[in-house]
Amino acid sequence: MKLWVDGGLRDAATARVSVLDHGLTAGDGIFETVKATGGRPFALTRHLDRLARSARGLGLPEPDLDEVRRACAAVLDANPMERGRLRITCTGGLSPLGSERGDTGPTLIVALGEAGRRPDSTAVVTVPWTRNERGALTGLKTTSYAENVVALARAREQGATEALFANTVGQLCEGTGSNVFVVLDGQLLTPPVSSGCLAGITRALAVEWTGAQEADLPLDVLERADEVFLTSTLRDVQAVHRVDGRQLPGAPGPVTAKAMRVFDERAASDLDP
Ligand code: PLP
Repeated sequence: MKLWVDGGLRDAATARVSVLDHGLTAGDGIFETVKATGGRPFALTRHLDRLARSARGLGLPEPDLDEVRRACAAVLDANPMERGRLRITCTGGLSPLGSERGDTGPTLIVALGEAGRRPDSTAVVTVPWTRNERGALTGLKTTSYAENVVALARAREQGATEALFANTVGQLCEGTGSNVFVVLDGQLLTPPVSSGCLAGITRALAVEWTGAQEADLPLDVLERADEVFLTSTLRDVQAVHRVDGRQLPGAPGPVTAKAMRVFDERAASDLDP
């Protein structure tokens, strides 16, 4: 496997970043996961826009987006695969052992792995920890993911593949790596970005393509919703058949099935929507 680091392609087994990189010592970095089918990335422009937004939010120098595009193309060319997931990371760069960044500028890493096929439906659990809708990192796609790792492990212990968070005022927010939609009284709804969720790219496309409405929703909407689905780069639109102990028989229900169909059709016809 070849990945991109230090301005060129390197062998993954020997590629290195410094042990003093601020991404490691302080979790100071940003990233994007981009789906690639047949060697072609999906929605790369939107991912690069968000990468630049995350850099600004974290006060990192903006990555050179032309270099990021070149790096993605080079990594995809060097590692042919049918269904891949590009991982673009910009870390804080070399630093002293404290909480301040050094002045070397960020390190760009682009790697590629196989993307498995997602099942049509999955189980989720809610977790007792909250997303902060007013934090310094809210809405940024940073490498500070430890809380998500803990929550996902909790979900796995209960036979689920995703954990859903409420925010600090008890509203439904998002998953560890996905956004959430519910069908309530025939209406397709999703929490607004002001809930503290990431502005997911799949979420934005699903809203555009299905006409879903944004609404503040209490967490217990999950006990009443007729249908629930998740969106993310690697899940696309994925139905939920169990929330905590509650089964949602027949998932995907009609609204979710339509959203899945519309998403697949539109995504297949436009690689950079
Ligand atoms: N929310 C979080 C916390 C995420 O990490 C992700 C993606 O990894 C998403 C939502 C979904 O975003 P996207 O559709 O851009 O993959």
